[in-house]
Amino acid sequence: MFLLPDYRVRQRDYLLNISRAITAQLDLGEVLRMVLQAATSMLSGEVGIIALREGEVFRTRAIFGIAPEQAHLFDALLEELPALPGSSETEVQAFHARLRSIARRVDPALRQVVALPMSVADDMLGIVFIFRAYAGAPTQNDYQLLQSFADQAAIAVHNARMYAAVNQERQRLAAILEHSADGVMILDPQLRVERWNRALSHMTGWRPEHATGRHHDVVIRWRRREIGPDLSEMVQQGWPRRRSDHTSPETLYVEGDLERLDGSTLSVGITYAALTDDEGRLLNVIANVRDITHFREAERLKSTFISVVSHELKTPVALIKGYADALSRDDADWDRATIKNGLTVIEEEADRLAELIENLLEASKLQAEGMKLTYDDVSLPALARQSIERFQTQTDKHDLRAVFPPDFPIIRGDTKRLRQVIDNLVSNAIKYSPQGGEIVISGTFTDTEVQVSVRDQGIGLPPDQLQRVFERFYRVDNSLAQKAQGTGLGLYLADAVIKAHGGRIWAENNPDGGATFSFVLPRGD
Ligand code: ADP
Repeated sequence: MFLLPDYRVRQRDYLLNISRAITAQLDLGEVLRMVLQAATSMLSGEVGIIALREGEVFRTRAIFGIAPEQAHLFDALLEELPALPGSSETEVQAFHARLRSIARRVDPALRQVVALPMSVADDMLGIVFIFRAYAGAPTQNDYQLLQSFADQAAIAVHNARMYAAVNQERQRLAAILEHSADGVMILDPQLRVERWNRALSHMTGWRPEHATGRHHDVVIRWRRREIGPDLSEMVQQGWPRRRSDHTSPETLYVEGDLERLDGSTLSVGITYAALTDDEGRLLNVIANVRDITHFREAERLKSTFISVVSHELKTPVALIKGYADALSRDDADWDRATIKNGLTVIEEEADRLAELIENLLEASKLQAEGMKLTYDDVSLPALARQSIERFQTQTDKHDLRAVFPPDFPIIRGDTKRLRQVIDNLVSNAIKYSPQGGEIVISGTFTDTEVQVSVRDQGIGLPPDQLQRVFERFYRVDNSLAQKAQGTGLGLYLADAVIKAHGGRIWAENNPDGGATFSFVLPRGD
């Protein structure tokens, strides 16, 4: 039987152990110490050092056989180490001579140094030094022996660095994913969720731990898909098809209303990108989910704006033009009453136009610069009575009343703006009670707040729209409400005024019919 020489067996055992340690991903310092110990022992050395290259300099990373305090003697010298390889033979010789002299300072017995670079694929990662008590030069065999250990050390360092780089990259990706404002999910080839970021949790209501492992179609449920194809169908049909021109795989864009976990909906746009292997097989689908509610809302507002403005402008302009045409006809001889009536209509419609323009300007200004208030002392009962006086002249179907306790406090506020709010509520109360009835403005107060309510006996509001009527351009979608003219800006502006005062405004339906709009304001004294 063929037997290995004893030192070969030892070398093999050492290398095997080191390999295992590298595979087990032990701490790099630990592995390098193992390498040093084995190499020093195999070369019958006394001291071993591994220096690693960090950019342009070398630093000791592992020592064996000397006290750590003495290692710094080498550190100082390593700083002057010529950048191996590529240095001339004499430079290397001179360097070795200096190394030996330092070694002798550490221990006079250390007279010989065996040194080899540690390289992986031409990348010089460091140097292994073994110091021995021998005189003379190291043999070829010494170098061969050391080479096997230097190679192992290089692999360990290389692995550790790769591992750290991959780890860092992974952490970076995870951080980007987690902190992305867009929803991001990664799907496996069967379209099951592998990753699900925080933003997507917020959007869908599905927590990452519940979404992970589920099929895409379970967690992404379209209530209405408006643009783009269904991902599952596309994948069944072979998406992404490998393109002959080898450009990056195509992406899919889908847009629509998503059903959230709690049953509510959210408008989103999802971009799916496919990650494929060299054969074009699907590895992952990476999906970017964007909340497009604001975008949709802006689109909706734009079209509402155009239809409202065109409708609301057209009617008064047509009336003004009609009456002005008729009154100015040369062939007609109008009596005074007809002329007066015509002029009244023209005046009213012109006022309406002015108010519409004013509201539009206010609403756009509000968006641009917010609401600015001018504070003074305000008597809300006085504002209510003035409003009633003005509006009572315009209707005989309605009975307008103000009910305030005599000690109702004066508050700090913007008179002009608060008058606007009360006028708007009273005008709505009239407009949305076409059958007439009672309209009551009432006031109550506490130590800190005052409350004003405007109650009518009109058509009331659909319960699910009590909040929405305060949105910009929002008008209740029923024929009764639509018959009345309006832009849906009045309550939006009222809400802005009340909020700017630090108060709040809301709508309720009365048990016996009609609506009540109320606001509270801080007394501010
Ligand atoms: P506009 O009256 O110009 O349409 P507003 O912002 O003042 O705009 O009101 C928004 C919507 O709220 C109205 O279109 C109407 O549908 C509803 N609304 C307002 N006030 C009342 C009310 N007192 N009773 C019933 N519905 C009302």
